[in-house]
Amino acid sequence: MIRTRFAPSPTGVLHLGSVRTALFCWLYAKHTQGQFILRIEDTDQERSTRENVDAILEGMTWLGMECDEGPLYQTDRFARYQEIANDWLKSGKAYRCYCTKDQLDEMRNQQKEKGEKTRYNGHCRELTDHSSTKEYVLRFKNPLTGRVIVNDQVRGKVIFENAELDDLVIMRGDGSPTYNFAVVVDDADMQITHVIRGDDHLNNTPRQMNMFSALGVEAPIFAHLPMILGDDGTKLSKRHGAVDIRDYRESGFIPEALLNYLVRLGWSSGNQEVFSIEEMIKLFDLPDINQSASAFSGDKLLWLNQEHMMSTEAESLVSHFKYQLDKIEVDINQGPDLVKVIEAYRERAETFAQMAIACRYCFEDFAEIDPKAAKKQLRPVILEPMLALYVSLTELDEWSSEQISSCINNAASEFGINMGKLGQPLRVAVTGTSASPSIDITLHLIGKARSIERLGRAIEIIKGRAALSL
Ligand code: GLU
Repeated sequence: MIRTRFAPSPTGVLHLGSVRTALFCWLYAKHTQGQFILRIEDTDQERSTRENVDAILEGMTWLGMECDEGPLYQTDRFARYQEIANDWLKSGKAYRCYCTKDQLDEMRNQQKEKGEKTRYNGHCRELTDHSSTKEYVLRFKNPLTGRVIVNDQVRGKVIFENAELDDLVIMRGDGSPTYNFAVVVDDADMQITHVIRGDDHLNNTPRQMNMFSALGVEAPIFAHLPMILGDDGTKLSKRHGAVDIRDYRESGFIPEALLNYLVRLGWSSGNQEVFSIEEMIKLFDLPDINQSASAFSGDKLLWLNQEHMMSTEAESLVSHFKYQLDKIEVDINQGPDLVKVIEAYRERAETFAQMAIACRYCFEDFAEIDPKAAKKQLRPVILEPMLALYVSLTELDEWSSEQISSCINNAASEFGINMGKLGQPLRVAVTGTSASPSIDITLHLIGKARSIERLGRAIEIIKGRAALSL
């Protein structure tokens, strides 16, 4: 049974990089019918916050990446870390280190002066006298010789010399575990088979593998993901835009599109760009992860978002659309069926935020017609056809797009003008803008009462201009 885990530290919110890691872990578990575990790494109690935990959980829920186990919290497992640390202390796999901060600083300075790599020099490694009452930390006795070979699923074979690694602290003076130690105890206890994470952790891996050996447990398989770059070629960061994954929801993106976008940052399957979640699960596999870093592109994300808006059944998009309408305080009780609006507008919007703004006039009145559009379209020459249209639309019993369309056709042919010549002034009249879906559908969505009333108002504007011979 394959078991993967996503192990965010709540020292920050969920961002694109961490979501990509979570996605790869989740997809691999799904692909192999394994299990996906969510573990909150909150040992750094000073920098971890409840708000960040909530942001992470909320983000994961919105993205639909449900876990099979979790969320598990490292702060609930302190007794377990203590237990292993004590075991190691007794069996000589770990030792007490009494070096003070000043001593460590001095050690580092001396090493720097000699041009050596800075590292703990093993000062307390062989101490036998433990009568000191000084505060101490526990350090892991890393092997002094030999090498650690990481058979990374993305990077291939990476070799580390033990002589390059120092004895890392596993328990701090206050009895809290350090990251590298807690991760190993957890991955072992939780029977994690595959650790998939960012390649900023690759240097931790040999130390962790040595600790798996100390536990007498086989190390999991590792896959270190290449980083994501911004469009300027530097590591993706706050400077490149939205940092909190929830900002993408606020901007009207849908989770499937975001996940589709992220899966392609570092993974590919032929030339395919658009993937449903089911396809991702079916096709995702570790050997197809690229070694090189990939660059973030906002334009491609927008394009994919629209692709998903177009290919997903409108019924299942309603909640995303409603979220955006609520945000701009549109009262949807006074308007058309949301499914119909989505079907009509998705060809012309890349996000639901754009869609909500673009279709607002279907739900509520607008303050004024765009002056440029009014000037161009609401001209005296169109007065007679508009009046005729006003009458025939008012008389319609059935407000269907077919009936509306034939009213417009009839009025246009009665006055010998083509349909566009009448359609555009009508559009300006009922939407206040010069862009909307096809005019019959637009009128249908706006509804009869509102359409007639707006048409009447536009006719008054045209009459005003006619009187002034404008
Ligand atoms: N908690 C670590 C982080 O947020 C991840 C640790 C891991 O995946 O091993 O970077």
